[in-house]
Amino acid sequence: TKNPVPLAGIPYHALDNYLYKLIKAGIKVGIVEQLEDPKLAKGVVKRGLVRIITPGTIIDAVMLTEKQNNFIAAIMPNENRTEFGLAVSDLSTGEFLTTEINAEKLENELLRINPAEILIPQSLQNDHHPIIKNNKNNTQNKNNIKKTTYFINPYHERHFMFNAAYQLLTNNFKVLSLECFGIEDKRLSIEASGALLQYLKETQKTTLSHIRKINYYTTEQYMVLDKTTVQNLELIENIRDKTSNATLLGVLDKTLTPMGGRLLKQWLLHPLLNINEIQQRLSAVEEIVAHLILRKDLLEQLGNIHDLQRLISRINYGNANPRDLLALKNSLLIIPRLQVLLRERNSDLLRKIASITNFEQITALISNSINDDPPLSVREGNIIKKGYNLELDGLHDITRNGKKYIKELEEKEKARTTIKSLKVGFNNVFGYYIEVTRTNNHLVPENYIRKQTLANAERFITPELKEYEEKILGAEEKINMLEYDLFQQIIGKIVQRTAEIQDASQILAELDVIAGFAEIAVHNHYIMPQILPKDHFILNLENARHPVIEQLEETFIPNNVCLNKETRLMVITGPNMAGKSTVMRQVALITLMAQIGCFVPASEAKISVVDRIFRGVGAHDDLTHGQSTFMVEMNETASILNNATEYSLIIMDEIGRGTSTFDGVAIAWSVAEHIAKNIRAKTMFATHYHILTRLSEYSGVKNYNIAVKESEDTIIFLRKLVEGGTDKSYGVHAAKLAGMPFSVILRAKEIQADLEKEDTMHQDLDVNNDNN
Ligand code: ATP
Repeated sequence: TKNPVPLAGIPYHALDNYLYKLIKAGIKVGIVEQLEDPKLAKGVVKRGLVRIITPGTIIDAVMLTEKQNNFIAAIMPNENRTEFGLAVSDLSTGEFLTTEINAEKLENELLRINPAEILIPQSLQNDHHPIIKNNKNNTQNKNNIKKTTYFINPYHERHFMFNAAYQLLTNNFKVLSLECFGIEDKRLSIEASGALLQYLKETQKTTLSHIRKINYYTTEQYMVLDKTTVQNLELIENIRDKTSNATLLGVLDKTLTPMGGRLLKQWLLHPLLNINEIQQRLSAVEEIVAHLILRKDLLEQLGNIHDLQRLISRINYGNANPRDLLALKNSLLIIPRLQVLLRERNSDLLRKIASITNFEQITALISNSINDDPPLSVREGNIIKKGYNLELDGLHDITRNGKKYIKELEEKEKARTTIKSLKVGFNNVFGYYIEVTRTNNHLVPENYIRKQTLANAERFITPELKEYEEKILGAEEKINMLEYDLFQQIIGKIVQRTAEIQDASQILAELDVIAGFAEIAVHNHYIMPQILPKDHFILNLENARHPVIEQLEETFIPNNVCLNKETRLMVITGPNMAGKSTVMRQVALITLMAQIGCFVPASEAKISVVDRIFRGVGAHDDLTHGQSTFMVEMNETASILNNATEYSLIIMDEIGRGTSTFDGVAIAWSVAEHIAKNIRAKTMFATHYHILTRLSEYSGVKNYNIAVKESEDTIIFLRKLVEGGTDKSYGVHAAKLAGMPFSVILRAKEIQADLEKEDTMHQDLDVNNDNN
């Protein structure tokens, strides 16, 4: 033909494997199935498209990661592209969220959500928005889609139109207005949500009954975290190999359920600002920490709960198997036990479990109906328990009696023919047959009808045998069909409880994260931080440790850090490798941990909530965008200076090191000065430019260094943060430690001595010279 279509065949059971590869490669896959039973169809069996699978619409368990959401997003800008409606859903869990957000914040929000696919109106395709630009790179470069670039899917404009969107949403959720979701007057949210729902309907071709509501949220509730900070603080993945090894998530994740694991990740990326909400979580953790037996019991029970959220989604979708129902039952059975455990607790959060409804009907239904060890398939019988359905039991009697009769027939025929080795067998082609070995051929009676000849045996049938075969096989076929129907009826009953099961799984997820926090607090010796309003302006940590590094080091030296109105900005000097980055990062991580409601690694912690944590790092590679290291450093610094407020926490790690020394000093100096004088945020500023210690003449700026001890020709790292500046850098010492040739070290020392004589750096950079 003119336009040949390439065709490749794969066995259907290998589909999952190929599907995964195709989706990974950014290809949409349409699934076409037979729509009628081939046995009953006249002529060609009707076939049709039943589902379209794209990166954002995966629901198959094998392709999903347990503790990871698979989000799909839709964005819709206003006319001048300053505001965006953002809608987000995870088909596998039934979550559906929306918000309205300005253009700058959109990028941070997408970073937190990390959607597998983003729908945009087609007209936006040629836009210059950074998110959309990413896509161009990845279409040019289809074969190696980077993890950090989004899969952008331009979708028809008309689905983003207000009227269509409004209509679709109200029809779908069977409501008269969108007031109940709090988005009646949120035009952009409605448009984005409408387009997203339309797309899900179009690709899934089912009712999507597990998506029950739209949750409107605002990003104002949460601490702002930008990409640089999330990456540099290694919250979720480490910079080295992008796994969760040596990350905060890695340390904090003691969750026992998949939904708990997913929620923990969301909490980590959404630290709270509201003191009451933080306190609620902390009090819950405190209560579990205080009760050893309760903690052990909780962990034991939680460990037996399956992924309720995804189970109920699969059940709604119609692709749950009998074992899923047992998993559902076993998980629901844990709830009353948890309710007993937490009955007398003080914490509101722990007592929430009491609000979960009674699922006895569902668990009894599943217990009474589903076999204890059912098959994965829903079409091959063996699902339904004896005693659940009279008709089914009757059919089982027929097959059992039929089989008994056939056993008797075998004995009868043996006696009649005197052939001792005669036996009745069964195969799928001929059904039941009587087998006689060749040596006994002469004894075969007249009414036997020959069916098949084997090497040393003959197989026969008799009319009587076939009569019973028909009964048995007919009954078996009916059994399979009836079991399938009964299974669907049971599913139907469970589907009616979707909302309650989803609510329960949300509460269980929270409990799981909280219990995990308690476990880790005890295990790692964390304490409960004291949370104060932002304007108390204090961050006081005693014996604080770095939650991740302390796990890796044999002995970790704790440090005290205090930032307040008198010490707003710490200039931290000290030799390479002394531990500057570590102490600053631990302060950032501890603040973040406190604001997600987790205990912290310190002996005492007083923390005023911060609106944002910034971490700027001197020259480092941005492998994803291929920018010059110095430009990356300057971009990040600019973003900090433009966005930080007095209530932010700023960590600056050797800003200015990506350029020449003079440039570097000049930039570092003016940045620190701007923060100290204009922004006035709590700041830790590490630098190897010792001249910056002169900034301490400004009010609110103090010098600190990380102590080292010189002994003979070497130095010992004490890892203690102490007040005061330093004027030695020991860089040459580090070179020696690294094993540089001795001659090079000697030469470096010579040059160092010469330069110190010239002392080019100590010119008149005087803090008092500035003009305000
Ligand atoms: P550079 O200036 O070269 O970047 P730095 O001063 O920032 O160095 P860090 O990277 O913080 O130094 O620390 C270097 C190493 O020292 C860490 O990886 C860790 O192994 C160890 N270290 C840092 N602080 C401590 C501590 N308090 N207790 C024990 N070990 C520590």
